[in-house]
Amino acid sequence: MNLLVAVGCFAAASVRYLLMVGLYYAAVYRVMREPLGAFKINKQDPTPKMMGSEIFWGLLNNVNFAVVGVVVYEFYKRGWLRVFLDFEAFPWIYHLLLVPVLLLLHDAYFFWIHWAMHKTRLGRWLRHDVHHGAHNVSPWSAFSVHPFEGLLEVAFRLITLMVIPMHPLDFLFFEILTFALNIIGHSGYEFFPRNFATSPVTRMKSCATFHYMHHQNGGTNLSLFFNHWDRLMGTLNPDYEKVYAQVVKERRPWRRT
Ligand SMILES: [Zn+2]
Ligand SMILES: [Zn+2]
Repeated sequence: MNLLVAVGCFAAASVRYLLMVGLYYAAVYRVMREPLGAFKINKQDPTPKMMGSEIFWGLLNNVNFAVVGVVVYEFYKRGWLRVFLDFEAFPWIYHLLLVPVLLLLHDAYFFWIHWAMHKTRLGRWLRHDVHHGAHNVSPWSAFSVHPFEGLLEVAFRLITLMVIPMHPLDFLFFEILTFALNIIGHSGYEFFPRNFATSPVTRMKSCATFHYMHHQNGGTNLSLFFNHWDRLMGTLNPDYEKVYAQVVKERRPWRRT
């Protein structure tokens, strides 16, 4: 049975990866290439060789979903997870609040392992250099990590399933949402509003420019979905607002001269 779970998890993770990243890439980098050209942060495209390497690492990293999937299955059988199957066992407000809470927890988890990877030897042990192979990111960069690093990131799922009561649909929604946010963060295109980096409503949120800058200068902009940890720890790139303003200033979508 465990083999079936492992194969199923690997297949599901690979289909999700190829479908979601592939569709985003096909839509933005191919079909809509012309009209969206102004939104591209770096006007150069990543090389096919680079993207090929990223797809290799992205698919290889799905092995971690097989490993963690089997552990989750075994833990579930033993009653060690806080998963519940009756969706109405908790009120709607609980399911709604769970999303931002999980995002904040995931953000903190990621920030600290990412911080340690850049500031200590952990990065060398977990081969974080694989993810930083790309300076000019594309959606394929999002999951291009060495399996050592990937295992630590995927482990977040196991921890939350053991600690926080949630329905499988909550988990599924969170998985798809974070996957999509990761693609947007690595997309290499900035679609967010002009005042995104400075508006009091959105300035604590991360964006494609924010993470693009991390791939240019690994020591700063370490957060994933938000950026409050970078602000607290002094790792926010001091040029972030300036670079964001420059990126959006150069956008001239669908404008004929
Ligand atoms: Zn990245
Ligand atoms: Zn990094």
